[in-house]
Parts: sequence; C-alpha cells; structure tokens
Amino acid sequence: MESNFNIDTRLLHAGRNPASHGGLVNTPVCRGSTIVAPTLQEWEARKTPGNPYASYGRFGSATTLALQDMMAELEGGHRSLVFPSGLAACTHALLAFVRSGDHVLMTDSVYGPTRSFAEDVLSRLGVEVEFYDPTIGAGIRQQMRKNTRLVFVESPGSATFDIQDIPAISAQAHEHGAFVVMDNTWASPLFFKAFEHGVDVSIQAATKYLVGHSDALMGVATANERAWPLLKAGAHDFGQTTSPDDIFLVLRGLRTLSLRMQRHWESGVRLAKFLQQHSMVERVLHPALPEDPGHALWKRDFQGASGLFAFVLLPLTRAQTIAFFNSLKLFGIGLSWGGFESLALPMDAPKRAVAPWTSQGQLVRVHVGLEDYIDLEADMAQALEAAAKAAARKPGTSSDVSAVPPQHSAVHLMENVL
Ligand SMILES: *Cc1c(COP(=O)(O)O)cnc(C)c1O
Repeated sequence: MESNFNIDTRLLHAGRNPASHGGLVNTPVCRGSTIVAPTLQEWEARKTPGNPYASYGRFGSATTLALQDMMAELEGGHRSLVFPSGLAACTHALLAFVRSGDHVLMTDSVYGPTRSFAEDVLSRLGVEVEFYDPTIGAGIRQQMRKNTRLVFVESPGSATFDIQDIPAISAQAHEHGAFVVMDNTWASPLFFKAFEHGVDVSIQAATKYLVGHSDALMGVATANERAWPLLKAGAHDFGQTTSPDDIFLVLRGLRTLSLRMQRHWESGVRLAKFLQQHSMVERVLHPALPEDPGHALWKRDFQGASGLFAFVLLPLTRAQTIAFFNSLKLFGIGLSWGGFESLALPMDAPKRAVAPWTSQGQLVRVHVGLEDYIDLEADMAQALEAAAKAAARKPGTSSDVSAVPPQHSAVHLMENVL
C-alpha cells in the first residue's frame, strides 16, 4: 500500500485486498496443492524463469502471498519468504548463502539453536563458523577473511541482551563482499529497521510477537534486492512449506502488533527497573536501562524495546530457587515468548566462546506480557520474598547449600530483603 501512511496505519491495511475475496476484510485461508489451468496457453504463461512448476501449492497461496507482501513492506525490504518456524528461517537463510570452504562469522550471543545448527550442520558441510564478541563493532574488520561469505548478527543477543553496532559491522562486511543476515526477532519490524542499518536479510521468528498469542509457529526471512535471488533459490530447493491456517494467525496477530508492543515495552522497562532496585537481584540485562552497556547504541538505532529481558538472581539455594519459581502466579515457566501472557524462564549459563559467562546466580529470562502491570510487579515481589523466606525457614537443610558462597548465605540474603 501507499508508503506515505504511517506504519501504524499500514499495519492495518497492508497485505489485504477485500475486493479479491468477495469483500471479506481478511484474506481467507486458501488451502491447496494443485492449481489447475483452464488452457495450455495459461499453463505455459505461469512458468517463471528458473521454475517451470511455479504454479503449485508448495510456492504458496493467496494467504502466503498476503503475509509475504506485508512483511516485505513492514521490514522495508525487497521480498519476504515464510518458513514453518523461526529456526527454519534462520537455518535456511544461512544455507542459502554458503558453500563448502566458506567462512561464517556469527555473534557469540546468537540464539542457542542457531548456534547448534552452525556447530553441528554447517561444520559438517565444510563451512567454518567463527564466533565473535557481540560488542566488536567495526573491529570485526580483523576477523574478516577472503572467504568470509556471511556475518550473522542478532541484536540484542539471546539470553544476554548485548546490543550490536549493526551499521559498523555491516559496513565492514560489505567492504569484504559478505552478506549480513540478522535475527531481528526481539525488536520486531517496528523497533529496528534492519535494512536502514545495512542488513541484507532480516529474520523474524513470527512465533513470538507477530503471532502474539502463543498459538502458532512460523518464521519470515526478508531480503534486499542483492540477497533476494539467493535466498529464494535456496529456500525453494529445500521444499519447505507453511500452513495457510497458521499464516492466517500471523496476519491476524500483525494487525495489533503496534498496540501490543507499546504495552510490552512500557511494562518491561517498569519491571526491569523494579528488579534493578531489588536486593535479591544481582543485575538486570535490558538495553533500555540507562546503566546497560548497550544503552547508547540501543538509543541510537532502535525505536523501542520489547518485553523480553533477563536478570540474575543472587546465588540461592535450590530450595530458594524452587520457592521463587513455584510462587509465581502470573509468570509461567515455559519456552518461547512474545505472547500475551508473561513468562519467567530459568536459563542455563549461556554458551559463549569469546567471553565466558561468569555470574554465579540463576539467570532468569522474563517475557513481560499484557497483564496489568501492577499485578505483574506484585507477583514478582511476592515470589522474591518467598525465595528469601525459604532460606530462613530451613537454614542449612538444603542439600546444595554448600554451593552458595558465604557472602551470599541465606542469613545474608534475609538481611538484604527485610
Ligand atoms: C524463538 C526464537 C527463534 C526460533 O523461533 P521458533 O519459531 O521457535 O523456531 C529464533 N530466534 C530467536 C531470537 C528466538 O527467540
């Protein structure tokens, strides 16, 4: 649609054309494999360069095209492709650009399963993957080699929320002829304009904010003109398809994306600030906090923040950790994020090749949902209090209490809280 409308308006009107569907406001769920042609001439006319079989359900229906058109417009790219999951969008975007003998630079803060794919599959195919410090910026120049084909960025990074200097990294990558592929899920297309910052392919795990209701899995990869032919050819060769029923859910979720993101952003920052002041919390990882190491870059490059961040608890006993998670009433313990409901996920120490994770306390990833903020803060407060009390009730009886450094003994924690 016309690009002079503001993004919040385009969110409501992009990717739909009621006149094509009997006046229905939403593009319907178009299911199908075979698409018949009435004449031989029309059948022949449907062939596209390089693909004589383009008129087939595997290449998408009107529902697929509606989402792909809408995503290309929202991301500000040339064209988009949908994939059956966010991870599939990441892995296929990687496979579309590399061949045996190539070198790939990947941020050390990358989403865990993308890291596993690089370590397990790309290396098996003869592609060398090297992890770099997410805060490297223009210093990535030193890591570039003649055969560096692709630089993978994710900002902020999964689990640790490090902000990357995407324009500086992109400039170096392009000088060396490499493509820049970004996992842009955290910010959504609303809060980070990937193509304006030099990215060639922007990936959304649509499962998260775009779906917004925790009821479907999907990925979208959007390319600029330079990267599009390779992305498209690579994806089509693998024969991945995505269900039109699920695509319908993404299209529906997108209509309210801006309103939801506004609330996730606001409540997320409020809860992060609350946790920052709390005596049971060692530190909070959220780029919108002025004290965060990535704050200046976030402020320069992003239009907002989502509701996903992390915090580190002081080192606790097992009994205290159990008390904390089991006392939460509004924050579910579960994977994924971006739905309407709040989540608190206990995370293992993040795997890092460059700068190992050193915090002793439990890392907790929080997705702040759309509940009333006051209720969320009260829930978090009572769970932290329950953790503190768990230490007081059973001093020294927890089986792993010896794992707690003396300066963080249960009694010490109590003093901090009460
Ligand atoms: C969840 C997630 C993915 C993968 O999405 P799925 O749909 O679960 O496969 C990729 N990147 C990031 C940053 C994610 O959080």
